[in-house]
Amino acid sequence: MEGNHEKARVRLCYLCNQRRAALKRPKTLEQICRECFYEVFEEEIHQVIVKNQLFKPGERIAIGASGGKDSTVLAYVLSELNRRHNYGLDLFLLSVDEGITGYRDDSLETVKRNELQYGLPLKIVSYKDLYGWTMDEIVKTIGLKNNCTFCGVFRRQALDRGAALLKVDKLVTGHNADDIAETVLLNILRGDIARLSRCTSITTGEDGPIPRCKPFKYTYEKEIVMYAYFKRLDYFSTECIYSPNAYRGFAREFIKDLERMRPRAILDIIKSGEDFRISTSTKMPEQGICERCGYISSQKWCKACVLLEGLNKGLPKLGIGRSRGLDNNHRKDVKQSNGTKNIEGKQCGSLDF
Ligand code: SF4
Repeated sequence: MEGNHEKARVRLCYLCNQRRAALKRPKTLEQICRECFYEVFEEEIHQVIVKNQLFKPGERIAIGASGGKDSTVLAYVLSELNRRHNYGLDLFLLSVDEGITGYRDDSLETVKRNELQYGLPLKIVSYKDLYGWTMDEIVKTIGLKNNCTFCGVFRRQALDRGAALLKVDKLVTGHNADDIAETVLLNILRGDIARLSRCTSITTGEDGPIPRCKPFKYTYEKEIVMYAYFKRLDYFSTECIYSPNAYRGFAREFIKDLERMRPRAILDIIKSGEDFRISTSTKMPEQGICERCGYISSQKWCKACVLLEGLNKGLPKLGIGRSRGLDNNHRKDVKQSNGTKNIEGKQCGSLDF
C-alpha cells in the first residue's frame, strides 16, 4: 500500500515507465529519465545522419571545434555514434584561432583538453598565420563596428584551409536547430534570397573546396545544454568579448519567445525555410576563383582578399563598401574585385562557427 502511494507520488519516465523522470524534454515537453534522454538525443542525431547520408565509410571528417557547448557535444556524440554504429570515419578536431585575448585563447585550452578526452587529433589554424592579422589587431584598427564582418569572412576561409591541411572529405559544424531557424528569419528580414535558399540545407558547399554538414540541424539548443550538463562535458561558455549582440540578437530572442509558447515553432520555421521555392528569375552568383589567392569567389577577388587589401593599405572600410577617401585607382579596384555589393556582416555572437 505504502509502495503504491510512493509510486504515485514519483513521476515515472514517459518513455520507459520504469525510472524516475528527471527532466522535461524541451523539444516535446515529455517528462523523461536521464537514460532515456541520452538515448533519444543520440538516436535522433544518428537518424539524421543515416537519412541524409551525411557520411560514407572511410571518410575523413573534421569537426569544427570552438570549445563551446555545440561543438563539444558534437565531437562527443559523433565519436560515440562512430564507434557504436561502425560509421568507419576518421574524426579530427579543427579549430580557428582568431587571436582574441581573453576569449579564444581560453576556449582553445578547452579544445586541447577535448583532444585528450576524446582521443581526436587537433589542428589549429590562426588568423595571424593565414592573414597576418589577429582580431585584436583588427579591432584596434577598425573599432567595434564591422569586426564581425572581417571575422566571419576570415573564419570561413580559415576552416576550409585547415580542412585542406587535414586532407578531410567533409567538415561538420555544431549549428543547431535554433541557429538555423534564426538564420532563416534573418535572411527573410534582409531579403537575402541566395542565402535563404541554402541556409536550411543540411550539407552545403558541395561545389566548393570542402562540403560542410550540420548533424544538429534538428537538435534544440536547450537539449544540447542539458546533454552537456548531465554528461558533465568539458566546454567553454563565455561569449566573445567583441560580440555586437545586435540584429541577430533580436532574432534569437524572438525565437526563444516563440519556443516558450510552442516548442515546435523552431522546427516549423526550418520547415518553412526548406519549403521556400526560389524563383528562377532570381540571379544566383556564379562561382569562380579569386585571382589573388585561388579561393572560391564569385568576384575577381574573394571577400577575404578585398578586406585584407583594405586593412593592409590602412583603408579598412574598403571592403565593406565605403570608398570615400580612395583614389580613382582604388575605387576601380574595389569595384572590379567586389562588384558593387556591400559585404553584409554576419555576427556569430555565441554561435559555434
Ligand atoms: Fe568573431 Fe564571433 Fe567575436 Fe564577432 S562575435 S569578433 S564573429 S568571434
